[in-house]
Amino acid sequence: MAKLTILLLFGISLLGSCVSVADKCQNIDDLLKSHGLSDSTATPPSPDKSFEQWKNTVRQEALSQGIRANIFDEAFSGLTPDSDIIANTQKQPEVVEPVWTYIEKRVTPENIAEGKKLIKQNRKVTQLIYRRYQVDTPLLYAFLSIESSYGANSGDKSVIRSLATLDYYNYRREFNRQNLIAALRIIQNSEVQPQQIKGSWAGAMGMPQFIPISYLKYAVDFDGDNHSDIWTSFPDSLASVANYMQQARWKVGVPWGFEVNLPTDFNYTLSGMGNKKSIADWKKLGVTVAAPRESLSFSSENASLLLPVGKSGPAFLVTDNFRAILRYNNDISYALTVGLLSDNYQRDTPILKHWPLQETPLTRKERLALQILLKEKQLYKGSIDGKIGSDTTQAIRAYQQQTRVPADGYANRALLNSLRCHD
Ligand code: CA
Repeated sequence: MAKLTILLLFGISLLGSCVSVADKCQNIDDLLKSHGLSDSTATPPSPDKSFEQWKNTVRQEALSQGIRANIFDEAFSGLTPDSDIIANTQKQPEVVEPVWTYIEKRVTPENIAEGKKLIKQNRKVTQLIYRRYQVDTPLLYAFLSIESSYGANSGDKSVIRSLATLDYYNYRREFNRQNLIAALRIIQNSEVQPQQIKGSWAGAMGMPQFIPISYLKYAVDFDGDNHSDIWTSFPDSLASVANYMQQARWKVGVPWGFEVNLPTDFNYTLSGMGNKKSIADWKKLGVTVAAPRESLSFSSENASLLLPVGKSGPAFLVTDNFRAILRYNNDISYALTVGLLSDNYQRDTPILKHWPLQETPLTRKERLALQILLKEKQLYKGSIDGKIGSDTTQAIRAYQQQTRVPADGYANRALLNSLRCHD
């Protein structure tokens, strides 16, 4: 009992000292307020003219770009804006999903098994696709899995209506106007009937979730019916993704990347997508493959060292093929997931090093505070936007070097607290 009391007292005194440390730290809400950043959410987009006026403007623009009047009028007949879509533009999550959760939700045993089954079923046609486009087959299925659960979940909203609504409400207008006119062109080219052109609220369509502009650039007919049908045809969808990846300069037979181990004295300033070295040069620095495989005869390939969650999580060497995946969707978690899923169709490829599960990613407010604090130290000159891009990463590295901690450039809570609680 006495022991317990001592332990309890000790615990309380520890708590007490924590509180007094916390008192010295700058409060995040105060920091944001002092920079005129309240946490009120952004005002929703709103129309700047009547729907009829807007429609006439778009009609003129579409016709000037070669869309026939009857195509436009038919597609817009009875069309009204869809207010549900505007609600979707307002869902800016305050908390970001950790990369390990993102991967875990998508590289599942079910998705792997389904992919393997489809690879087997479509073997003949994928061999032909492989011959024409020189893109590794498993990669194509990984895209379709993540984009639409192999076509099961490709969205059932009218793409014309979605894009018209976003444009009318002045939400990313230039981008959505281009896609709206591209969607009309798809109909004009008789690729699909207007009612068949379905997709997500943002206008991403079919199994590969191409936006209309990407469809016009990359979609192909591979089953020979003269329509590039990315909604229901597996051959067309796979070939369209293969065409996309070929144009993104995918190098056949080269891995997207692989997990590596780093030596204890590793110079973390070398990490990040901004720095490329040959795989041979990385080896010379003591970087080794985490799970040795026979396939590492790629020593002349260029690679970057990717630390998705900084030095306390897994490390990957990623090749130019990883950059090709990023051209499909410029998001590190996404590209890692596509790569890992395609590996797992072929062999079990678990990530060996543990993720720092106790470390949740910084919230938007915390990221804003981090940038403010780095700016106050004159290490950061960019805008306070809560986006951790290369300028913020560089500023973090500079601060880490000043404070003599490994300069992995990763924005975690320990770093934020160090900035908040010391001067
Ligand atoms: Ca077809």
